Amino acid sequence: MDQSDDLTRVPALWFDDGTLVVRAQTTLFKVHRSVLSARSSVFRDMLAFPQDNGGLETFEGCPIVALPDKAEEVQSFLLAIYDSSYFMPPPQPFDILSLLGILRLAHKYDVEYLFKRALSHFDRVLYFDNYPAFLQAAGGPGIMTSQAEPWRPQSQYTDPRLLLAVVDALTQVEAQWLLPVGAQYFLSSLPMLSLLGIPEDLLDGSRLRRILLHRQKLVVQRSTLVGAIVPWGDDVAPDGMECLTPDDCTDTRVDFLTFVAAYNVERDARALDRLDAQNMHGLCGSCASGTFWEQSQDDFWRNDLPDVFDLPDWEDLRAQRAAMLGS
Ligand SMILES: [Zn+2]
Repeated sequence: MDQSDDLTRVPALWFDDGTLVVRAQTTLFKVHRSVLSARSSVFRDMLAFPQDNGGLETFEGCPIVALPDKAEEVQSFLLAIYDSSYFMPPPQPFDILSLLGILRLAHKYDVEYLFKRALSHFDRVLYFDNYPAFLQAAGGPGIMTSQAEPWRPQSQYTDPRLLLAVVDALTQVEAQWLLPVGAQYFLSSLPMLSLLGIPEDLLDGSRLRRILLHRQKLVVQRSTLVGAIVPWGDDVAPDGMECLTPDDCTDTRVDFLTFVAAYNVERDARALDRLDAQNMHGLCGSCASGTFWEQSQDDFWRNDLPDVFDLPDWEDLRAQRAAMLGS
């Protein structure tokens, strides 16, 4: 092939005794046919050409295979194969973009141990056994990015394009158990302007519509929760749970609703956010216990959340998780 000047070699993945040149876009890696074949059944089949190289193109005497994948992703993937200290299991931090590349390519080329390891990084920040565990993890560990701040998907300031890339990659590798909370909830509950700001080449109209439909279901749930602040009339409160100080409790409720209306506009779809605002202190015992927010959110989590995103129920998702992570 042409030894064009446009091609770049990656020094960390250029072995003088290599037996195979891998090309991705305009980047070249000189590696070993035997190593790739031992790690990946897909490469083993792909590279099972005869000794005369089966008529393959060569580069400086080495057979060359071109992969259709992005160069940066192939680089992370090959480094993970070659350098055992490069890609460690969690809680070791790892760059999220490189992680996405390894996840996709380990799945595509069937390198099971790397695939599981990549999944376990995502599992740590995107999977929660139950709603209380989710609340506890708010602001949790995150995954490193090339920026200074780790990637925290639950932040409403998270980069929507990155969140979308995570949803796509997890969908592509069929890691459905990471989707309801992890990816779909965080994506669909972003402020409307963040979603509308994603460029069309990344998010086409029909997909955006689907996300907005998901979002609408979350808005309804969130409104129901906030609506639970409306006082129980004597006729609906269970016996012994009637309001003890109606005037004070009404004032507190008005304060809370004002707070939600004024400061929580962008959180209108955050159905899983904790709602116990400071402003709520001042309710009588009956009203405070009657709001049932966390119980209501817990029910929503258990019974409805996966369904909001047209995913199987938690039981199926957990079974899938156990099968894929082996835990
Ligand atoms: Zn009350």
